Amino acid sequence: MSNRKIQMPREVYIDPNIIKDTGEICKSLRLDKKILIVTGNHTYKIGAKPVIESLESHDIGYDVIKVDSASYESISAVEELITPDTSVLGVGGGKVIDVAKLSSHNKGVYFVSMPTTASHDGIVSPLASIKDPKTSTSAKAQSPIAVIADTEIIAQSSFRLLAAGCADLIANFTAIKDWELAHRLKNAPFSESAAALSIMSAHLITDNVANIKPGLEASARIVMKSLFSGGMAISIAGSSRPASGSEHLFSHALDKILDKPALHGEQCGLGTILMMYLHGGDWKAIKESLKAVQAPTTASEIGIPDDAVIEALIMAHKIRPERYTILGDNGISKEAAYELAFKTGVI
Ligand SMILES: [Zn+2]
Repeated sequence: MSNRKIQMPREVYIDPNIIKDTGEICKSLRLDKKILIVTGNHTYKIGAKPVIESLESHDIGYDVIKVDSASYESISAVEELITPDTSVLGVGGGKVIDVAKLSSHNKGVYFVSMPTTASHDGIVSPLASIKDPKTSTSAKAQSPIAVIADTEIIAQSSFRLLAAGCADLIANFTAIKDWELAHRLKNAPFSESAAALSIMSAHLITDNVANIKPGLEASARIVMKSLFSGGMAISIAGSSRPASGSEHLFSHALDKILDKPALHGEQCGLGTILMMYLHGGDWKAIKESLKAVQAPTTASEIGIPDDAVIEALIMAHKIRPERYTILGDNGISKEAAYELAFKTGVI
């Protein structure tokens, strides 16, 4: 692989009410000179406020910036507030974390990931998905120096987000199949340990579907732990390969087609059913697992028109042509796309 640097967080906390210890953790990591809290409008109340209280009780100075989208404008606004002494705390959902991650990386300062939801694996991985008009794939950024995941707060976030996080992890099953295929057919660099960790993360969900329920702290902990180990697989591989194959290409294609895409994890879940069928794997089991965690298994459930599914299937292979998957170099025909979407019940 071109970049074999493996970057991991130094400290990871996945605990209820851990957010109250933010000040102490920042002190122990010597990140207490100047803190910049990056947060969102909603997450300010539930996440940033307790963080501020904890920082104040430890006499740590801070600034706060609220961002409302994962865009290059948000990143520039955050970068303007970063000095060489700053440590960035990203307190919020996926968008906030991505902005905090990329802006701190661009400025060469440390970043602490403090997710308030567990909706996808970007929370701990070194990659950031920032909407670029041309692509909508991941930018290389940096791993957080620490992850502070308050499972009590995550459990109180919308269950739809947690279910989407589960679906994003279940997607690892087809991502690994695609990766193995690319390794065999195109000699793509492959890491056994990253693949094993990725599969283990997905199994943590599918083996525990009965324990993933709304409002339960223990459920949030299972999903968060799995997202963490999935993120580690990405760090080891040095690419999103262990967590992103044809099912993610399908989701990225939907992002381009739809004015209002559904959640990333939800779209990837649908993609996993479809791509597992193409791989000749047990797509029915994928569907059952998704249903069990209340993630969508049909396009209509999340307001995606049937023709958008077909269009996305046809164009998915063009999204990242260098990433070989079951869709091959030429993709899938319209007739086959219909057949696939019908047979799997996605449309
Ligand atoms: Zn994903």
